[in-house]
Amino acid sequence: MQNVNMTEKRHTMPARDPSERCSNFCEVMLGYDEETAISEARRCLNCKARPCMEGCPVGVMIPDFLALVAEGKFEEAYEVVRRTNALPAVSGRVCPQETQCEGRCVRGKRGDPVGIGYIERFIADRHMQKNDCIPRKTISNGHKVAVVGSGPAGLSCAGELAELGYEVTVFEALHLAGGVLVYGIPEFRLPKEIVRRETEELRACGVEIVTNAVVGRSFSVEELMKEYGFEAVFLGTGAGLPRFMGIPGENARGVFSANEYLTRINLMKAYEEGAETPLFPARKVAVVGGGNVAMDAARCARRMGAEVTVVYRRSAAELPARREEVVHAEEEGVRFRFLCNPTEVLTDGENAAIGLCCVEMTLGEPDASGRRRPKPKTGSEFTLEADCVIMALGTSPNPLLGRTTDGLQTGPHGEIGADGAGRTSLEGVFAGGDAVTGSATVILAMGAGRRAAKAIDEYIRRQACHSEPRRGE
Ligand code: FAD
Ligand code: SF4
Ligand code: SF4
Repeated sequence: MQNVNMTEKRHTMPARDPSERCSNFCEVMLGYDEETAISEARRCLNCKARPCMEGCPVGVMIPDFLALVAEGKFEEAYEVVRRTNALPAVSGRVCPQETQCEGRCVRGKRGDPVGIGYIERFIADRHMQKNDCIPRKTISNGHKVAVVGSGPAGLSCAGELAELGYEVTVFEALHLAGGVLVYGIPEFRLPKEIVRRETEELRACGVEIVTNAVVGRSFSVEELMKEYGFEAVFLGTGAGLPRFMGIPGENARGVFSANEYLTRINLMKAYEEGAETPLFPARKVAVVGGGNVAMDAARCARRMGAEVTVVYRRSAAELPARREEVVHAEEEGVRFRFLCNPTEVLTDGENAAIGLCCVEMTLGEPDASGRRRPKPKTGSEFTLEADCVIMALGTSPNPLLGRTTDGLQTGPHGEIGADGAGRTSLEGVFAGGDAVTGSATVILAMGAGRRAAKAIDEYIRRQACHSEPRRGE
């Protein structure tokens, strides 16, 4: 074993200068080099109890892969991560590591936790740079599974099943695979080439991806099973239905849901000359909300050349967005108006947004979420000038599948009812990710996809017990 690096501070990752980056969509964080990755990996104590692993929803063998990186065995380390994590270059970039693996790292008790995510990103990027996608299709076991939705839940479920020998077809409503990874999270945080490459790795494992296929419209879940011969279906349809405030003027021109705004930019590349789905050049943008989605929308709007203000009804201390995202937004010139809440979108004679009426708030007693409940301050109304207002208030699962699938139980917000293993009220139909939990995280969705893959395998094996033996066995 190599000498442990007992430095309390972790190696910082170089980042693009704020003055340069706020006018383009290039990736902000630039990644570790080999030497830095090795030195950071040597900070790991290789703890016997492996507390960091308890914080990882997909059970990455963290001490094992770090030990390999510490010895410069990068490709071997990649293989260890890849055993449980289908998208390491993605998770290394967007996992909220501070509350997951790194949140449990013992080095964090005195100093910084080991930069697990940064190192994971490094080995995944290095693998992509050094290797073409190598086909590694497992021998087919002759059983067919359909996956609906190509977000992290669907892709992780598909990858896991393909490794077990299943013939997996992913049906995706959009023209590109990746879910929020392609249409929501901006290029400057997660380059789309990375998502494409990790999706290619899955294709190389034998996963078929059919795009422009809306299940519930193009064909139903029942048809997939009865007519197309899929023995099980996994529903990983996400939570893409935006919420609005219900205030006057919200249907004005220039008011967007964060989902629509981000989709125009990330999926449809509205920032490129001659884009087919452009955005009008807004001067002053108000973003309502305080989560990661609000930060992404605000930072995109800055890059589109606008002055941007984030309007949040609680104080800076309650901002739900990751600290790193808030700091980056501030560095890029995004302004924040804390403790204020919109009451109306002001419009001109042609129903175009021209301003956002707001009221100041104070914080009262904690509510059910444990956060202090904001209350309006009487007589504190004011108006922000804004020709574009972006509502980033959260999303719910799309109700389409609930409405078109007989017997599929759904909750009050359209969430598909499923147990911890992803089993739904319908035999052979499984679900996971945001479609079940509501908006959560990439790695929780991937964990749900993995668990459902195991349950699907058990289910099909049980069914097959009473019929002929499986091919390849
Ligand atoms: P999704 O990623 O939503 O994928 C669902 C897919 O299903 C979509 O491609 C959709 O088109 C498709 N689909 C839906 N209905 C159908 C149908 N009927 N037929 C066929 N296909 C269908 N999480 C993090 O961990 N870190 C972050 O930094 C982060 N940033 C985020 C930023 C934004 C802007 C957003 C919106 C979310 C962010 N999240 C982040 C949350 C994270 O992206 C989601 O929790 C995660 O993507 C959920 O994965 P999923 O597979 O369940 O759903
Ligand atoms: Fe940490 Fe996410 Fe990697 Fe798990 S997948 S080790 S939580 S960065
Ligand atoms: Fe290494 Fe931290 Fe995990 Fe211990 S808790 S094995 S130091 S990463």
